[in-house]
Amino acid sequence: MRPTVWFLGWLLGLLLAAGCPPARPAPQTPIQPGTPVRPGGPTVAWTRVSTAADLPPPPRPGSYQIHMIDVGTGLAILVRGADFAMLYDAGTNDRDERPMRVAAYLAAVLGPSGDELCVPEGSPPPTSRTRIDHVVLSHPHLDHASALDLVVHCYDVVRFWDSGRVNDTVFYRELLSGIAASTVTSYHTAASVPDDHAVEVKGLSVTLPRWERFSEGDTVELGAGARFRILHAEAKAHHDPNQNSVVLAVDLGGIKLLLVGDAESGDRKDPSYPPGDVEEFLIASHPEQIRADILQVGHHGSMTSSRRGFIEMVRPRLALISSGPKRYGKITLPDREVLDELGRVGATILRTDEHDAACPVTGRIGGDRGPGGCDSWVITIDQAAR
Ligand SMILES: [Zn+2]
Ligand SMILES: [Zn+2]
Repeated sequence: MRPTVWFLGWLLGLLLAAGCPPARPAPQTPIQPGTPVRPGGPTVAWTRVSTAADLPPPPRPGSYQIHMIDVGTGLAILVRGADFAMLYDAGTNDRDERPMRVAAYLAAVLGPSGDELCVPEGSPPPTSRTRIDHVVLSHPHLDHASALDLVVHCYDVVRFWDSGRVNDTVFYRELLSGIAASTVTSYHTAASVPDDHAVEVKGLSVTLPRWERFSEGDTVELGAGARFRILHAEAKAHHDPNQNSVVLAVDLGGIKLLLVGDAESGDRKDPSYPPGDVEEFLIASHPEQIRADILQVGHHGSMTSSRRGFIEMVRPRLALISSGPKRYGKITLPDREVLDELGRVGATILRTDEHDAACPVTGRIGGDRGPGGCDSWVITIDQAAR
C-alpha cells in the first residue's frame, strides 16, 4: 500500500472511531393554519388577540382553544373546550393595577364573575360566578402566580393543582389562604397531605380542609375528548422552584400540548449541551408523552431550557413563548439561541413580546398601558371536515 493511501485509510478509521455526530432529523414542514396537522386529524389555526373584538367565539363541542395571554412578563395559559376551562398559571406584570390585565382577559373570555374587586373600578359588580374547572400553578414564582389569588377569589375554581413546594413568601401565603377560604376549591399537591391539613408559610399556618395528593402519571379528564397527564410532579424544596414545575401533557381531541412552566435543563448554556434536570428526566421517563404538536417553551425561552436533545424529542409544530421586557437578572428573554433551535425542527413560533415597545392598536383588553395585552394568541383546534 502506498504511504499516502495508507495514511488516508488510517485517518478515516480514526474519524469513524471518534464517532461522527448523529444525523439531525430533517426539519418539519411549517404548519399551515387551518389544515390537518396529520392526515384526517384535527386542524390547528391561530390568531393574534389585542382587543375584545379579536376574540373568537367560544369553542363548539369537539373544538378547543388555547389562549396564551400576553401578561407583559410572565405566563398565563387558558385552555378551553365546550365543557371545561383550565388555567395554567396566571402571572401578570401589573399586580398593582386594576384591572390586572390577566383578570380583564379572563373576564372578556369567560364572562364577568365574582364581586366588585373582579371588575374595573366604577363598573357594576358582576351578579354571578363562573366556574374554572382546573387551575394549575406550575411552580410558586410570582411571574406565574401573581394573579392567582384574585382568580380564586373571583371564580369558582373547582380543583387547584400545585406542586406543593412551599415558597416562603407573602404572595404564596395569600394564594393558599384564598384557596383555604374558598368553599368550592379542592387543593391538590404532589406533597403528601399532613394529618392536620396545615402548612406553614411566612410565619402563619394555613389550613386547607380539602387537600388531596396527586402523583406523576395521573391522568385527569378535562371534558369530552380532552384530558391531561401529569409528567412531572415534584414537591421537595429544590434550590430553585423552577425545578418543581408541574409538567402536563394535554390531549385536545388528538392534538398534543406540552405545558412545562419554567422546567429547566440547568444553567444557561447553548442548546447543543446535553439535557439535564427536568428535561433529562422527561426524556428518560416519558419519551412518548413529551412528543407534542404544541409546546409552551420552557422558562420564557431562556437558555436554561430547550436543550437540543429535548426539543428534538418534542418536535413541536407550534412553539408558544411568553416573554416580555422585564429582565430576569440581566437578561431579556427569549434567547436567540432558543429561537434558532426551535426553528431547526421547523416549529412556527408565536410570541407575546412582539409589540411590547409600541402596540399599533388601541383598546387592548385590560387597557392601553405598559407592555402586554397586544400579542395574546388564541390557537383553535377543530375537527377536520369529513
Ligand atoms: Zn417564569
Ligand atoms: Zn420560575
